[in-house]
Amino acid sequence: MLTGSHADTQPVGGKLDGAYGVLAGLEVIAALNEAGIETLRPIEVVAWTNEEGSRFGPGAMGSSAFVDPACLPAYRASVDGANIRFGDALDAALAAMDDVPRRPMQRPMSACVELHIEQGPVLERALVPLGVVTGIQSVRWYRVECTGMMAHAGTTPMGERSDAMATAVGIAHQLYAYATAEAASQLRLTLGRWQVGPNSVNTIPGKVEFTIDVRCVDEAVLTRFEARLDAAIAQARPRQGGITYQCFFRRPPTHFPAAMLNLIERACARASEQASQGKPLHLTSGAFHDAMYLAEHCPTAMIFVPSKGGISHNAAEETAPHELFLGAQALAYTVAALANQ
Ligand SMILES: [Zn+2]
Repeated sequence: MLTGSHADTQPVGGKLDGAYGVLAGLEVIAALNEAGIETLRPIEVVAWTNEEGSRFGPGAMGSSAFVDPACLPAYRASVDGANIRFGDALDAALAAMDDVPRRPMQRPMSACVELHIEQGPVLERALVPLGVVTGIQSVRWYRVECTGMMAHAGTTPMGERSDAMATAVGIAHQLYAYATAEAASQLRLTLGRWQVGPNSVNTIPGKVEFTIDVRCVDEAVLTRFEARLDAAIAQARPRQGGITYQCFFRRPPTHFPAAMLNLIERACARASEQASQGKPLHLTSGAFHDAMYLAEHCPTAMIFVPSKGGISHNAAEETAPHELFLGAQALAYTVAALANQ
């Protein structure tokens, strides 16, 4: 059976995102060895490469290539900002550690459990040290392109403009209003990247492209969102030019299997009880994790520990030592049980 997480981080990331799950996995092996506990199945600890996708795209390369090795040729060709191929960087990293023995990972894995910091505020606010992660929310990414007519900012009357920015902002307003109306369903909307052409202070924009990242546990909410996007575009009717959009990434929600959740619930309850802490909380993950891909390969689930202030992807990332300890203990109980199944 498999445990672990990723060892890469964000440019300004903290010390816990990913690395905690890898080190805790090694601690589990050490603890089992020290206690003289031999399990039915071998336990493997993994440090997946490039989960964050901050240098090479896409993210979660290691775990998704393990699950679907056909991804590998395209991943090897992926280049970073300095035009270095991922394949070359990988080969160089392996060559630098040629004294480390290598053998293939087991395939298939019987089960996988990933321990990770929550990276959000839910556990801290509930004053609960351990979370049973029930799944990972669904996501869709869109690229919207609005075209108009470039013209002089000073001489073109307002009623005679085809302003691509005005069109884009009109659509954005409608989408934010929809997200506010859907607040109860926990829809999350981000219009994160904007490109304005010609991006000049005194020229009416002729082209505006922006991206949409929309997420929800309930995929039906995303389907309704897409219908709203269609309607907003149909209503926009620019004087000249037009609007196109494409969905360039989509993933349905991940639901971890009930048997895995029960087992993790018991392990977390046992660790919490021993430390006189509250019962584990069930929650969904707002972020992607390697476990999302492993869930396509074998029974998979995750354990969360709190993130102080909900802060992550930031050097200020922090979790109290006793919570890190409880997470590792819950992982040990889970791993030992799964390795004996
Ligand atoms: Zn992570």
